[in-house]
Parts: sequence; C-alpha cells; structure tokens
Amino acid sequence: MPKQLLIAIDGPSGAGKSTVATLLAARLGYTAVDSGAMYRALALLALEAGVDPSDRPALGRLAASAEMRFEGGPNGSRFLLNGRDVTDALRSPEVTRAASQVSVHPEVRENLVKRQRALGRQGGLVIEGRDIGTKVFPDADVKIFLDASLEVRGKRRFQERQAPGQANSEEVIREMAERDQRDQHREQSPLVPAEDSVRIDSTQLSAEAVVEKVLELVQRKTAAAGSSGKQTLH
Ligand code: C5P
Repeated sequence: MPKQLLIAIDGPSGAGKSTVATLLAARLGYTAVDSGAMYRALALLALEAGVDPSDRPALGRLAASAEMRFEGGPNGSRFLLNGRDVTDALRSPEVTRAASQVSVHPEVRENLVKRQRALGRQGGLVIEGRDIGTKVFPDADVKIFLDASLEVRGKRRFQERQAPGQANSEEVIREMAERDQRDQHREQSPLVPAEDSVRIDSTQLSAEAVVEKVLELVQRKTAAAGSSGKQTLH
C-alpha cells in the first residue's frame, strides 16, 4: 500500500484552501481537516459566553474545556462543538471576525495545535489553515501555500456566502484585508509561507486545476519515498 502522506495547505482567506483540501482528500481517500473551524468554534463559544476576545485566561479556559469533533455526514463534513452541530453557525460574519481575534493568543493556539497534531498522527490527512506547514506539522510531506489576489478572494467569498448583514463585495474585501493583516502580523505563528512550501496562485486557476497540481507533487513524493524506502512517521 502506498504511504499515507500528510499534506499541509496554508494561505489567506478565500484562496480556496477548503475546497481544494476537500477535493484532494476525496481523490486520495484521505481525511480533510479545516483547522480554521476550531478557531471559529472557540470564537463562537466566546461570543455566546460574553467573553471578550482579548481576555486571554478566560479564552484559555474555554479552549481547555471545549469538546470539538469533525464528523462525516450526508451533507459533507460537520463540526460538533460540545455535541452540538455548529457547522453553519461558524460561518457568520461575527464569528469570522472574532476567530481572527481569539487566534492571536498563545493560550488558544497551544490547545488547538495539540488537537490538530493528534488528528495527524496516522497520516492520510489534508489539513488546511495558516500555520500548518510552519508550526503544526513542520515535517509535513507536501506543503502548499495557496494564494490569490485580494480582489478575487473577496469576490469568491462574497459569492459563496452572500452573508446576511454584509452589503457588498467591497465590504467583504475590506474585512478580509483586515483579517489578513492580523493573521500575517501577529506574534504567534503568523501567516507566512513555510520555506519548503510550494506556492500556488489560484487567481486564474479553478479549484480542480489546483488539485491537479498538488496531485503531481503528491505523486512525485510518493515515488521518491518508494525508491528510497523512506517512511516518515507522524
Ligand atoms: O480558515 P478560516 O477563515 O476559517 O480561519 C478563521 C481564522 O482562524 C483565521 O482568520 C485565523 O485567524 C485563524 N486560524 C489560525 N490558524 C489556523 C487556521 C485558522 O490562526 N491554522
């Protein structure tokens, strides 16, 4: 049986990471993990509990006590938070905003990174986020940095979500740029390409075309591992 790889996909919002990770996992028979859902879940808990996104100790306690689970279902992957299906609630503009605020704190990141590493132990995983190739799995077999122009990312997100309360694509683009800024310039695990990542610009590419490019890299990696007999354990 070919070796089960660990594939890390990082990049800014709206670059197509989730779509690509889901398609890729289906092609390879792997599991796709959206690490952003965990930061969103914590943001949702904080909003519901009236915890300020700057209250580090309270956020740390919320993270420590939360039960988070990804579950397959007829309508795709669902996210269960303390046993409750919050998949749709995680996509609201309020949660999106708060997620990039709570994710700056080390108390939050340490907890969620530990959970992500536990999911990756077996390999056979496509995991996407902001710090997967740099921090969560620095020894991932394939590392992709997926990017696209801000305008295209904003438009895609706007068409995808048509979020209630969001008037137009300019507003989505403005908020996205603000979150990118925060993600790229925070002290803890900022969004930067891993040195050994392959950058793919999806501005002019469909998700399927990106998947084909990644599959080529995966095949090369599998062939190389087969010829050297090298096995990486995660
Ligand atoms: O990917 P998504 O847009 O769902 O992520 C929401 C927020 O969670 C991001 O803006 C970022 O602040 C945070 N995040 C992170 N590290 C990850 C994944 C997401 O800090 N690995």
